[in-house]
Amino acid sequence: MQRALCRATQRSRSLSSSRRHASTLLVAEHDGTKLSEGTLAAITACAQMKPITLLVGGSAEMAATAAKADGVDAVQFVDNDALNHGVAEEWAPLVEGIAKTGFTHVVAGASSFSKGLFPRVSALLDVAQVSDIIDVKSEDTFVRPIYAGNALATVKSEDAIKVVTVRPTSFDKAAAEGGSAAVSAAAVDFSATGTTTWISEEVAKSDRPELASAKTVISGGRGLKTGDNFAMLDSLALKLNAAVGASRAAVDSGMCPNDMQVGQTGKVVAPDLYVAVGISGAIQHLAGMKDSKTIVAINKDPEAPIFQVADYGLVDDLFKAVPELESKLP
Ligand SMILES: Cc1cc2nc3c(=O)[nH]c(=O)nc-3n(C[C@H](O)[C@H](O)[C@H](O)COP(=O)(O)OP(=O)(O)OC[C@H]3O[C@@H](n4cnc5c(N)ncnc54)[C@H](O)[C@@H]3O)c2cc1C
Repeated sequence: MQRALCRATQRSRSLSSSRRHASTLLVAEHDGTKLSEGTLAAITACAQMKPITLLVGGSAEMAATAAKADGVDAVQFVDNDALNHGVAEEWAPLVEGIAKTGFTHVVAGASSFSKGLFPRVSALLDVAQVSDIIDVKSEDTFVRPIYAGNALATVKSEDAIKVVTVRPTSFDKAAAEGGSAAVSAAAVDFSATGTTTWISEEVAKSDRPELASAKTVISGGRGLKTGDNFAMLDSLALKLNAAVGASRAAVDSGMCPNDMQVGQTGKVVAPDLYVAVGISGAIQHLAGMKDSKTIVAINKDPEAPIFQVADYGLVDDLFKAVPELESKLP
């Protein structure tokens, strides 16, 4: 008993002492005018790992905007064109260098940017990365989904610097306004390595809400048969102010662009309403949408696995059901 108490006291001492020293470097993602939703979610995730210093690659103006995010304690920025477009080879040594100035955690929202950057940072720091966390148990213990979301692993990191990415849909977004963090230029000598150069990008333009943050998502699968038939979903999405997503089968067969893909190898979404049209519900697709609040499935096959996760299911031909559904909406 005595020993147990003693251990408990020691444990709480070591926890409280490590808590006192926690200090998070949060790598900000932004579009030049505002922080990404993933960054705002990561700020919330780091509430137990404060103070939070946001690292902004960009102008002093962008840094000042980032400093308004609620919950951020300090902003350091580096204004250098080589950091535009998220070239991981340029970012990695910068993040490594700043991390070593006394941070216990290096964090970012899970995104294509951090998926490229953070494994490099982890390797440079010689630590193991904890990816895509959905809960923070304590400063060193995190919960993350494994096996395409079919099991949850609680992971304790004993590394001196914990490199962590945060699943944006699992945390509320911090308010973009209301904070007043101190802003300073990072005290580093940053010079571009030039090993990798950004050349160009093709961005899919849409006036629909962004897929990862939309409150309603309508996704189409192979059952749609052709890319032109996605117009049917677009028209329904317009009425519901929804974003349009797709299964990998729809993307691979050229019906729609890759950035519409929902799933394990695409985007993870958790909207209030997810409507799956002509999607069978393969495990890899479910990994990207099964945390949606309400799931509706339209599929002509009553045995389709999607019906096992759907709150409301309609066994019908989508080419009949979708126009009918739209005609009944105001
Ligand atoms: C490593 C790996 C990663 C993957 N990552 C992803 C991922 O991120 N996202 C993803 O989606 N998939 C992913 N996949 C692929 C996944 O396994 C499935 O192949 C894919 O999700 C199937 O897409 P689908 O449901 O559109 O097509 P199908 O499985 O072919 O299903 C089409 C459905 O449409 C229905 N249908 C057909 N015609 C009609 C009609 N007229 N009316 C109503 N219903 C109709 C059918 O009954 C069927 O259920 C991955 C696979 C692997 C191996």
